[in-house]
Amino acid sequence: MDQLDCVVIGAGVVGLAVARALALQGREVMVLEAADAIGTGTSSRNSEVIHAGIYYPQGSLKASLCVAGKEQLYAYCDQRGIGHSRCGKLIVATSEAQVAQLQVIINKAAANGVHDLVLLTREQARTLEPQLECVAAVHSPSTGIVDSHALMLALQGDLENAGGLVVLNTPLAQAERAQSAIILIAEDGTELEAKTVVNAAGLHAQALARRFAGLPAHCVPPSHYAKGNYFTLSGRSPFSRLIYPVPEAAGLGVHLTIDLGGQAKFGPDVQWVSSPDDLVVDPARGDAFYAEVRKYWPALQDGTLIPGYAGLRPKIQAPDEPAKDFLIQGPAEHGVPGLVNLFGIESPGLTSSLAIGDYVSRLL
Ligand SMILES: Cc1cc2nc3c(=O)[nH]c(=O)nc-3n(C[C@H](O)[C@H](O)[C@H](O)COP(=O)(O)OP(=O)(O)OC[C@H]3O[C@@H](n4cnc5c(N)ncnc54)[C@H](O)[C@@H]3O)c2cc1C
Repeated sequence: MDQLDCVVIGAGVVGLAVARALALQGREVMVLEAADAIGTGTSSRNSEVIHAGIYYPQGSLKASLCVAGKEQLYAYCDQRGIGHSRCGKLIVATSEAQVAQLQVIINKAAANGVHDLVLLTREQARTLEPQLECVAAVHSPSTGIVDSHALMLALQGDLENAGGLVVLNTPLAQAERAQSAIILIAEDGTELEAKTVVNAAGLHAQALARRFAGLPAHCVPPSHYAKGNYFTLSGRSPFSRLIYPVPEAAGLGVHLTIDLGGQAKFGPDVQWVSSPDDLVVDPARGDAFYAEVRKYWPALQDGTLIPGYAGLRPKIQAPDEPAKDFLIQGPAEHGVPGLVNLFGIESPGLTSSLAIGDYVSRLL
């Protein structure tokens, strides 16, 4: 049986960032990926936004890893020539009742170390974005967008330059504890022995963890899936910044993001589903998008929203429960030497990826 130092399960942006961090520490690293390419899971079905770190509870992993990860990500993009833009975003209050929430958002951001938010009047917001309708807004200048595929290719490149490798088409089936290692068994029956295993299987992380013999069952949280549907806008983007409504319970509201090519899209909404494979966008959901978007962009024309794509948020809380933090469990939490499980790595997982890589490598 092959013996390895570290195996990371899953070649999404988080698995690749963790693998890169471990390889840069001089460790021998292999990434096992079920699909035939890197980054085909949630990492290719998101908004590609570099979040500022505004909304998350003070002291949470989401807050600290997003704020640290944002700075690391901008520096990494500059260093590696990865396409990105610090385009900024506006969070808009579309009713008087929402205006008070803007100050709450500014205070929350400041508690997380994000001190660059600016409260704008309607007129100031419309000077920046003339087509915007709002009562007031908050400008976040450090929010941006990134080419997530270029980012993942750069992470893979760093990993490989440091001697690591990514093995595709290799779904892991189960794992067992051995003397001072973990035995990994792939679906094709191949067995590997690794001193360190990082479960970064995204939507499948819990299902996989339940097949780790020796991992206490109570350490594995439930899986819930909140689909986020996107509709793309035909024609030119009316805005040059990202436009977000005041956030809702399970998501950030139907917002407008632009990609580096200038294509505008709206979403993601929140649709709780029961399967991690439910990725079809129901065109009928577009009706609700028109209503939401017209609250801040009344000029939206009928027939211009086209069903786009969907991504699934890997939630560890049920729809009626309060939002939970990233759950990153090392040996101190579950008692299995050499194992780290990453659960509930929803947004801002892309922004936080480099910081999560450092955090996990410190745990090990
Ligand atoms: C709708 C939506 C919008 C988002 N927008 C943003 C945003 O704008 N900014 C931001 O910062 N974050 C955003 N996120 C969050 C971000 O996309 C995720 O946090 C991030 O992509 C998670 O990466 P990952 O590597 O953990 O998971 P994934 O990308 O899902 O990767 C997991 C990988 O594991 C593989 N795998 C699964 N099971 C096995 C197995 N048994 N064996 C081997 N391999 C396996 C899968 O094939 C997959 O490639 C968004 C998420 C969603 C759903």
